[in-house]
Amino acid sequence: FDLERLGVHDSVASVFPPAELTDFLADLSVPVDVIGDDEIPDCDAVITIEHRDAFLECDWIHSIQAGVDRFPFDEFEEHDVILTNSTGIHDRTVGETVAGYLLSFSRRLHGYAANQQDRRWVRPEWDEAFTLPGTTACVVGTGTLGRGVAETLGSLGVQVTGVRRSEESVPGFDEIHPNEDLHTAIADAEFVIVTVPLTDETHHLFDADAFETMREDAYFVNVARGSVVNQPALIDALESGAIRGAALDVFEEEPLPEESPLWEMDEVIVTPHSAALTRDYFRDVGELVETNVGRLEADEAFTNRVV
Ligand code: NDP
Repeated sequence: FDLERLGVHDSVASVFPPAELTDFLADLSVPVDVIGDDEIPDCDAVITIEHRDAFLECDWIHSIQAGVDRFPFDEFEEHDVILTNSTGIHDRTVGETVAGYLLSFSRRLHGYAANQQDRRWVRPEWDEAFTLPGTTACVVGTGTLGRGVAETLGSLGVQVTGVRRSEESVPGFDEIHPNEDLHTAIADAEFVIVTVPLTDETHHLFDADAFETMREDAYFVNVARGSVVNQPALIDALESGAIRGAALDVFEEEPLPEESPLWEMDEVIVTPHSAALTRDYFRDVGELVETNVGRLEADEAFTNRVV
């Protein structure tokens, strides 16, 4: 297709100011503008975080997220719309966030932060604090996120195993298990960290059985998508002591409803789907888009193509 006008949909404002991205892309050979819903029909291509039905009349949609579960793949295919995503850019950001969760649990920082709100000077029990070297983490999903997590945790001395669709080894992981052996892989880990995309296959992958399989002193971390986890089963597991705690960046319903019991649990860290945020986000997305505009002009296949 011929690219004549590229829109930056104003929904990206939940992650960065749309004008930062249009400025970054100002040197492209086509006009790039911030657009609202009304202007979608004037664009061949749109960079966005949300889906709009009007995108089905475009040629190319680029998601600023790696997770594209909110886009209707079948309809895109039917209407010959190309969908690309932003996998590849979240390794360090999410890796550092996950390292932060683990350090919080081991060094008890989340408890101190909570107590500070009430000016309470409370030291932990003698056996609560620990250090990370020698602890074990099982990372479920060994793509961009999984590798970033493995690299950051590896540098903190954590022993990292991975779960992926094949058994092929991945740099940074001491051992790899195939999806079928998920329960064996998570059974001994002190930290279980979820980094898979949400698909029909991974929907509610973590259910009551999975939490029952985990160690009672284990922490569960979800930086993937809320629906990879059966959230009521997770809440039961936390309440019954089947697992020790959790760090959750994503939820079945976002924002997490005020009445959710997860907000008040001492050993639960809630973050607002912010694990990948960075002031450089628009730059990272901009570079991906530049690459694909270059490929389009050179008549080469797009990178990060999903549909
Ligand atoms: P990648 O495509 O790079 O990696 C996906 C990994 O999951 C691969 O290792 C893949 O296996 C594995 N996998 C296991 N089961 C499946 C399955 N049924 N279908 C597809 N893959 C499977 O993705 P990213 O690491 O970039 O992102 C992963 C997900 O994390 C995103 O889809 C998104 O939902 C979420 N995310 C969340 C963010 C946040 O802010 N919290 C930020 C960025 C992403 P194999 O290696 O065998 O192919």
